[in-house]
Amino acid sequence: MTDTCIFCKIVSNDVTATIVYRDEQATAFRDIHPAAPTHILIVPNKHIESVNALQAEDEQLIGHLFTTAARLAKEEGIDRKGYRLITNTGIDGGQTVFHLHLHLIGGQRMRHPMG
Ligand code: AMP
Repeated sequence: MTDTCIFCKIVSNDVTATIVYRDEQATAFRDIHPAAPTHILIVPNKHIESVNALQAEDEQLIGHLFTTAARLAKEEGIDRKGYRLITNTGIDGGQTVFHLHLHLIGGQRMRHPMG
């Protein structure tokens, strides 16, 4: 946990969010500015700044974030029609919160381009 990281504060319950899933490795909560009917952020409970900071020991954790995303997509009823998983990395990648996260976005047809 870092003192200044908003997602660390959500993980530790020091900042309120609409939590939809939590276990010993990951927390998922609704994005405060949803880009689609379903917009959930899935974060590791431990602070990892971005994909750039990943270590080999994090490989199981990253897999867990994806299986959590798949389970939540099913719970949200968007698994059959599809959805988008995004991990922005660094300034050029559009990352604004420097605690690694997966965006799970769905409930509508994605139209915006990738770049
Ligand atoms: P990114 O730009 O990929 O780093 O994504 C950061 C996301 O975090 C944005 O979509 C924000 O809307 C979202 N966000 C920032 N602060 C909060 C918060 N307190 N609760 C929920 N979502 C947040």
